[in-house]
Parts: sequence; C-alpha cells; structure tokens
Amino acid sequence: MSTDSDSGSDEASAVRQRHRDAADEVVPEQTGLFIDGEFGAAAGGETFDTVDPTTGEVLASVARGREADVDRAVEAAWTAFEETWSDYSAGRRQRVLTAIADTIEEHTDELARLESLDNGKPVSEAKIDVRGAAEQFRYFAGVVRENPGETMNAGSRYGQVITEPYGVVGQVIPWNFPLLMASWKLAPALAAGNCTVLKPAEQTPLSALRLAELVGDTVPDGVVNVVPGYGEEAGAAVTGHPDVRKVAFTGSTAVGKQVMKSAADTVTDVTLELGGKSPVVVFPDVDVSTAVRLVSSAIFYNTGECCEAGSRLFVHDDVADDLLEGLVAAVDDMTIGDPLDEDTDLGPKVSREQVDRTMEYLDAAREEGGEFLAGGGQPDDEALAEGCYVEPTLVEGLDHDSTPAQEEIFGPVLTVFRWDDYDEMMELANDVDYGLAGGVITDDITKANRAARDIEAGYIWVNSYHDLVPGLPFGGYKQSGIGRELSAETLDHYRQTKTINLSLR
Ligand code: NAD
Repeated sequence: MSTDSDSGSDEASAVRQRHRDAADEVVPEQTGLFIDGEFGAAAGGETFDTVDPTTGEVLASVARGREADVDRAVEAAWTAFEETWSDYSAGRRQRVLTAIADTIEEHTDELARLESLDNGKPVSEAKIDVRGAAEQFRYFAGVVRENPGETMNAGSRYGQVITEPYGVVGQVIPWNFPLLMASWKLAPALAAGNCTVLKPAEQTPLSALRLAELVGDTVPDGVVNVVPGYGEEAGAAVTGHPDVRKVAFTGSTAVGKQVMKSAADTVTDVTLELGGKSPVVVFPDVDVSTAVRLVSSAIFYNTGECCEAGSRLFVHDDVADDLLEGLVAAVDDMTIGDPLDEDTDLGPKVSREQVDRTMEYLDAAREEGGEFLAGGGQPDDEALAEGCYVEPTLVEGLDHDSTPAQEEIFGPVLTVFRWDDYDEMMELANDVDYGLAGGVITDDITKANRAARDIEAGYIWVNSYHDLVPGLPFGGYKQSGIGRELSAETLDHYRQTKTINLSLR
C-alpha cells in the first residue's frame, strides 16, 4: 500500500491548506434550516459543527433542528401541497425534476468536492455520486407520467381505482452517500406528487443544503424542506410526526427498527433501506485478475462505507490462494490519502467515531483467531495522522459465527472464507440477519443463475458489483429493509390507492 506522501507533517500541512482552500470555494454559505423556501436559524438558535474527516477541521456550523423546527417544516410542506404542488400536473413535475437534474450536472465539480470534504470519499467517486444523483431525477422525470389507474364496470356500479400522493412525507438519510441518498429520496417523492421534509445525517449535512439552495428557485416554496440535526432530535421528530403520512428511512438496521416502531403509533407507511453483510461467491472457473478487481471493488469502494458492500468473500479452494495473493497485491497498490486528489483510491472514514467502531471489530477479529492477510489497523504514516483513516483489511480464519463475520462493519474490512462444497457454502452465505445484496463471479451461466437464485438477497450482481441502474429495483430481504428504490415500484411507495365506487342507479 502506498500513500500519497513521503514527507510526513509537511505533507499533512499541505493537505490541510488544500482543504481550507477548497472549503473556501465550495462550502455553502447557507447552512441554516431550509423551510418554506428560505434558510433560517433553528428555533432554539443552536448549531452543530460538521468536520472534515481528512484534517479534523470544522467545515461549517449548521443549524441544529429539533421538534419545533420539524413542526414548522411539516406545516410548510402541507401548505405547499395544498396550495401549489397538488395542482402541478405530472408533466409540470416532470419539467421540475429535469431542471433539478440539469442543475446538479452543471455543478458536478463543486458538489463532488463538497461531498469529498464533508464525507472523506475520494473525489473521483464523489463525481460518480453526483452523476448518479442527476440520473435519479432524470429517471423519475421519465416515469412520472406512469400513473395508471383502472376502471371497472360491475353492473349497477362503475369503479375507478386511482393513486394519489400521500401529501407530506418524512425522509431520513445516512452519511455514506449524502447527495446520492438525498436524490434517491427526493426524486420519487416529488415525482409521485408529495412535498417532503428531509433530514440529512449530522455528519454530512452540506450537500443536501447546497442542493436545496441550488434548486430553491426551481421548486415552489415549501415543497422541499431540509432540516439538519441529530437523529434522536430532528430525525425522531420527522419519523414520528403525526402529520407525516409516509416515512422513508435509510440507515442502520438498529435505528430502522426504532423508526418502524414509532411509525406504528400513527400507523404510518414506512420504507426502510438498512444495513447489509453481503456475500461475494467466487467459482473455480474465474479469471483470477478479473475476480481480484471485482472483489476488491466490492469491499473497498467508498472506503467500505456501502450498505451493499461485498464484505464476506466465499472463494473456491481451487482459486483461493491465487485470488488472495492477487487481493493482497491489489491492497498494496492502493493509494490511500487525500480524497481531493484524483488518484486517491481510499480516503478517510467519515468520523473518529466510525474509525473507533471499525477498530473494535478489528480487535474482535484478532481475539477471535482471525489472520490478517493485509491491513488490520490504521496507517502508520504521519501524513495521515490527522485523518480518519483505516487500512484496507483482509482477514481469514474467522468462524462464520464470529462477530466480525456477522455484523456490518461498514469499513474497508473483508472477511474471507474458502469453500469446496456448494451447499455448505451457500448455507453460510445466507447465515446472516441481512439480505441486501450479493455477488457471483463465474463464467458458467448455470452456476451463476443457480447462485443468484440461492442467495437470499434483494439484489445480485453477476460479474460486476456496485453498479446500480435506475429502473432496476434496489432493496433488501430479511433485516436489510422493506421496499425498493430506484425503480417505478418506488413510486408506489410514495402514493396510496383510492377506489371510487360509483352507483349507476
Ligand atoms: P444511522 O442509522 O445511525 O443514521 C441514519 C440516519 O438516521 C441519520 O440521519 C441519523 O441522524 C438518523 N437517526 C439516528 N437515530 C434516529 C432516530 N432515533 N430516529 C430517526 N432518525 C434517526 O446510520 P448511519 O450510521 O448514518 O448510516 C450507516 C447505515 O446506513 C449502515 O447500516 C448502512 O448499511 C445503511 N445504509 C443503507 C442503505 C440502503 O440502501 N440499504 C444505503 C446507505 C446506508
């Protein structure tokens, strides 16, 4: 593994300066609550800091929303729904969504650098996020007119089945793909005709706020409201609000369960996109260099902070030694360093707290008999000392029941298992609480189809990983969630069915 510096603290101060300069250029001035088309302070006047995980320096102070602020946002959203947005035809909403997509694309470099500063992700990957965010709006602009109804002639009655938006929806998102997750939430909600109150993660609120600023003139006031703040404060106020008619949550399974419980009080519809511990199955026929590239990307993309990360490798005995040798070499070749550098492969994790969490799992792996083939700690490099870095890590020899093999680490840590019996392997591959995704690597189409059928998960990649295509539904089995995003099916999560039974007598 190389780093982008050889000269320790000199390099660290150069990175710090580069980040300060970039922050001057791209950190938005507007960091208040965005309610009813305007930025403003929280009712209590409180703020919280969002920190650059590369340097540890504060990027901005952001308004800290709480219940009273969420109340105001929900009220503004209902007013906008009743007075404006519900009158917008599908075609007019389509134009709004397209305009948002255009605006995001026009600001690709700015938004990518902002995301990289706030989250720590390599800027090359942040650009992929920004393009993906624009694509979301384009996709839902494309399907916005798909609102089929039914009519039924039943003798003395005439029936119509139509769909209607919920009105006001509440949306809570995590920090790993801040802008992308905001777009996954906003685009279908708006396409279906709803107004929304969105709460970004407290670690990464800036890109959602900048998006609100950028589209403030495109979307009528009150249609999109953004209330940053902490989960137990602003988040819980959104997901438990009695006037929010639908809750869409992306985050950890533990919080997802709480959200579902609180929605029960008001019998509110909930969709949940939660955690994962996805298996990647490698068959013996593979081209090893292709498999190395896919397995490495499955776990290390976005510093392993992906819900769908392929974090458990099941590699056939016949190719295991070669594949692992190739993976160790791939880790060695990775550039770990400043995420603003286009050549960086692995940036810092989002926060110290997340580093500590990952390190606890690495300690557990050590205690539970894991053998580290690569990584296993934080990089020993003065130039990276101020950043939230964790080494890309390969660990073998763990029991599949062990904590690091069962729980979502959400970092660059791959647990490795070898197999020679397909059924035993598949039993282990499915022996986790999660079922978000899976990967299959083989050139044998029958084996590929069989494994894709057998993995209990909502999304299976065969000979690729991570690429998500609008139109192909994404979501989890088991404790990975309820509902699907990225597809026309998503629209149905944002509208309700009404039957009109008309007597002809
Ligand atoms: P998290 O659950 O801690 O937080 C997610 C969001 O929920 C944040 O905005 C947070 O402020 C808010 N929140 C926290 N407590 C809350 C509460 N009591 N009520 C309402 N909101 C609350 O998760 P995280 O650490 O930010 O994100 C990582 C998790 O997200 C991982 O488990 C990852 O797998 C998951 N994730 C899933 C998907 C998916 O599509 N399935 C996508 C991205 C991330």
